[in-house]
Amino acid sequence: MGGIAETVTAAIALGGNLGDSERILVAAIQAIDREMGIAVVEKSHLYKTAPIGPPQPDYLNACILVKTTLVPRTLLQRLLTIEHQFGRVRQGRWGARSLDLDLLLFGDQIIDIPGLTVPHPRLHERPFVLVPLMDIIPGWPHPIFGKTIAQLLAPLTISGVERLAQPSSPPILQWH
Ligand code: ATP
Ligand code: CA
Ligand code: CA
Repeated sequence: MGGIAETVTAAIALGGNLGDSERILVAAIQAIDREMGIAVVEKSHLYKTAPIGPPQPDYLNACILVKTTLVPRTLLQRLLTIEHQFGRVRQGRWGARSLDLDLLLFGDQIIDIPGLTVPHPRLHERPFVLVPLMDIIPGWPHPIFGKTIAQLLAPLTISGVERLAQPSSPPILQWH
């Protein structure tokens, strides 16, 4: 009995296009890091991206790497709670939202249970996810396709993904 919970490295995508998205994404990363059993270890640049789905404002997207002792289902529950705390109201599939948190990768695990599919089933076809992932885990092999993030991105046409200039003011968060 007992023992120390296993730590797994997981990748999470952040996105939003309602409200002050830059502020929301930065604050959401902070909220994730404050959760028991989750530590943020890497973060990508922020990217302005063209929306998919119904007409709506541009998105701001980023990806982070966390270390976690939580099981995948619990990790996703925490992420959905944080979405809710940041005012997300579901407006139909792919509609505008203040904060979207997707669990992209959970170690090398392949998970398909009700309400949770990992790797995220659309991560390999989305430049707005793969480009930020390139900042943090270019060599990570996709557990199903066996290709790295760089290899998945290479054949795709990258349009409408623009790295945001670094803010001139000091960062709100200090990263170690
Ligand atoms: P997409 O999944 O195409 O990016 P979306 O993020 O807009 O679309 P949501 O409405 O945010 O979709 O999520 C719908 C449901 O997807 C969530 O309630 C959640 O239970 C489920 N889901 C399944 N797998 C995942 C995952 N890996 N990460 C986040 N949500 C997931
Ligand atoms: Ca999403
Ligand atoms: Ca989502």
